[in-house]
Amino acid sequence: MPGRLPRQASLSSSGGSPDQRIKLLIEYGSLVEVDKSLAIKLYLRSGREMLRMANMYCDDSHFESAFILYYKFITLFLEKLPKHPDYKSAPQPELSDFKRKVKKVFPIAEQIKLKLKDQYAEEEKIFIKEQQRLEAERAAEEERQRAALEQQEREDEELAKKLQEEEEAEVRSVMDRKYLQLREREEERLREEEERKKNQEFAPSQIPPGLNGAQTGDAAAGAATAGGFAGVATASATIPAAFGAKGTHLVSPTDPVVAGSALPPPPSYSQYLNDLAKERPQVPDRSLKKNLGTQEPSITGQQIPSIDRSKKPSIDHHMSLGQFGGQMDGQLRPVSVPASLMSQFLLAAEVNTRREAETMGILCGKMSQGCFNITTLFIPKQKGGHDSCDMENEEELIFFQDEHNLITLGWIHTHPTQTAFLSSVDLHSHFPWQKMMPEAIAIVCSPKFQETGIFKLTDHGLDVIGACREKGFHPHNKNPPLFEDCKHVQVCETGSVIVEDRRN
Ligand SMILES: [Zn+2]
Ligand SMILES: [Zn+2]
Repeated sequence: MPGRLPRQASLSSSGGSPDQRIKLLIEYGSLVEVDKSLAIKLYLRSGREMLRMANMYCDDSHFESAFILYYKFITLFLEKLPKHPDYKSAPQPELSDFKRKVKKVFPIAEQIKLKLKDQYAEEEKIFIKEQQRLEAERAAEEERQRAALEQQEREDEELAKKLQEEEEAEVRSVMDRKYLQLREREEERLREEEERKKNQEFAPSQIPPGLNGAQTGDAAAGAATAGGFAGVATASATIPAAFGAKGTHLVSPTDPVVAGSALPPPPSYSQYLNDLAKERPQVPDRSLKKNLGTQEPSITGQQIPSIDRSKKPSIDHHMSLGQFGGQMDGQLRPVSVPASLMSQFLLAAEVNTRREAETMGILCGKMSQGCFNITTLFIPKQKGGHDSCDMENEEELIFFQDEHNLITLGWIHTHPTQTAFLSSVDLHSHFPWQKMMPEAIAIVCSPKFQETGIFKLTDHGLDVIGACREKGFHPHNKNPPLFEDCKHVQVCETGSVIVEDRRN
């Protein structure tokens, strides 16, 4: 069995508004081209196929594809075909039948449009909700990262502060030790001074007795006489007061002390702190941390796929839905062929084959979940020759297909005396089928050489045959090749087809 296709891809991404998406479907539906050199009969056939195909899409719940084909049908019969040179000479009953069909199709297309619009509106709501959810997730993630960053900064700042305090405490203790030494030296010096004074008291001959105390009331005279000694005593006297005021406590480094001391002043504490500040550990740079710290935001990468609406669809095949078929652009949907089809056909062709006359049949089928299945072999009334075969009474086929809601998936014929290939006449016969539906196939059975070929025209072949006006057997330039083996066909070993033989 052929692989099932995924559910039909939506035509317009869910990002578009319902109106935009409907507009896109209408654009595709308007893409119908009529080649005025092709017989109008082929377009009537094409129109019928289109309608059956659209019905099939409807049954398969491919409403977008159904809408496009109904729209193509309307475009073909209302707008394009009346411009064909043979339109007026076309069989009137058939044209009237198509006009009736167009009238029927209008309300169906309108109904599908409304249904799709509702569906699109629903999808838009879901899309917007999803956008909001993603936005909220993004915001929450950003907030989480911002909070984490702040927390990190707080911790860094606390660490820096702690380091600074430790360093300051260290400096303070060094300075305190220095002050202690200073004080000890000063006390030592005072003690020596006292000692020296006492010694002087015990040697009165050196100082006049009247000047030994300030209480004498003649201090001025004494000071003048004592000169340098009195000056030293006065300066020294201020020092114990400075230390003494603090009792046994160490002098605070910030106090303006020992200004009068002859010793060099200890380093200014505030100056020291300033110097220290210059070497203080810096809080890491925020931007750097962004790079090193928490991982990259995970949600910001989520992008909503957008559709390039500047790309206009450019398909001219009537039945082609391009990307709307559920396949990637340019790819063909698979066609499933039961292997017994060939043997069933050869059996039916046996009498003709024995007398070296060709036999032909039409491959009919249905679409299911995006895959074409050949279900029925229709063998029409025909006139088979040595190297060609023509269908007669095509109306029977049309009636049969309408009755059973079958579409044409290609044709099959025998080459009783030749190998399996597409002759120039075969190429021209196949052209309208493939032009109508890119998946259409041509099976050629050669019982004599025991070969079977399943072919389609190449893109180049479509161009050459579409432009060729020759009839009957005639040469074509075969390089590059005009036809090729089908890659979109899957031959299934199981199953069989219904043979509808109308020759008798
Ligand atoms: Zn042939
Ligand atoms: Zn030709």
